[in-house]
Amino acid sequence: MNNPLNILMEEAIQLINRNKNIFISSHVQPDGDSVGSILALAMAVKALDRNKNVRIVKVDDIPSDLLFLPNIEMIKEQDLNQPVDLFISLDSSDMDRLGIGKEFALKAKKIINIDHHVTNDNFGDINIISSSSGATGEIVFDLIKKMGVEIDKEIATCLYTAISMDTGSFMYSNTTYKTHLIAAELLKTGIDINDININIYQSRSIERTNLFIDSLNKLETFLDNKIGIVTVTQEMLKVHNAKMEDTEGIISFVRGIKPIEVACLLKEVDEKEVKVSLRSKKEVDVSKISSKFNGGGHIRAAGCTIYENIAVAKEMILKEILSNFR
Ligand code: 5GP
Ligand code: MN
Repeated sequence: MNNPLNILMEEAIQLINRNKNIFISSHVQPDGDSVGSILALAMAVKALDRNKNVRIVKVDDIPSDLLFLPNIEMIKEQDLNQPVDLFISLDSSDMDRLGIGKEFALKAKKIINIDHHVTNDNFGDINIISSSSGATGEIVFDLIKKMGVEIDKEIATCLYTAISMDTGSFMYSNTTYKTHLIAAELLKTGIDINDININIYQSRSIERTNLFIDSLNKLETFLDNKIGIVTVTQEMLKVHNAKMEDTEGIISFVRGIKPIEVACLLKEVDEKEVKVSLRSKKEVDVSKISSKFNGGGHIRAAGCTIYENIAVAKEMILKEILSNFR
């Protein structure tokens, strides 16, 4: 029981017990892991003590495939002119990734930072960082158990979504035996995984499908097809009446091509800003590549922003990817 994570969790629970006005937030451009984790933790803290003022800060739009999650309406814009005692950050590797959430963090008396990114910079007063966890949702599961709160169907639905989406449905290399043990416990609560899976994996809109087809038609490969790059421009979004969140699924498809080791997706935010996503299969550490551009992430999934036009950004990232092949 000398696991430092256990001790950190005890300290975090003491802070949660001692404070009334608790604000929870994820990173900008939230994904299933971050949205599932913030909802699950907010429900658990509320279950621990109904009198607590628990709020979730909306830092960005929620992708449409996550709107089915229970209590999703808890995620809303919050007024900065109210007392903030404790701030809990989930799935965010640094304060800048919190967007408006950062303002609440800076106002708080104490910050708890819970994350599984290797690149986390320990910005909290208490940092519960477990890079061996497949998802932040796995850490939140342990924390809720330690809190002594019963994991009901609603909490389990959020945590299952978080873990499934960050592990590529229990397929990526970040999936461990513990991931499966947690998933098994979540299934025991009686959650409807068929319904969850339809919501998160089988609800692709026609617009998203058309964007997918168009972008893959423009796939470029380099280094004997070991590197695949796809670009999504604002023009393409307009043509297909799609949103940037509709790029979900493109990069994993590119990584799924046999010779590809590194897949890269360039998303044009505007003329001078490109959001880059990187995935690798088994050799290249893409978090190293994204770190070169002040980004972060994991060995097999990482990202960064390049403040250039898309053509220049593509050249810069390709050069960096190439230098990571032996
Ligand atoms: P995605 O490509 O899905 O946006 O992100 C892949 C992984 O890299 C996620 O774990 C995400 O949190 C992380 N990531 C993506 N973009 C950034 C970034 O700009 N900064 C940092 N620190 N991490 C990022
Ligand atoms: Mn995550």
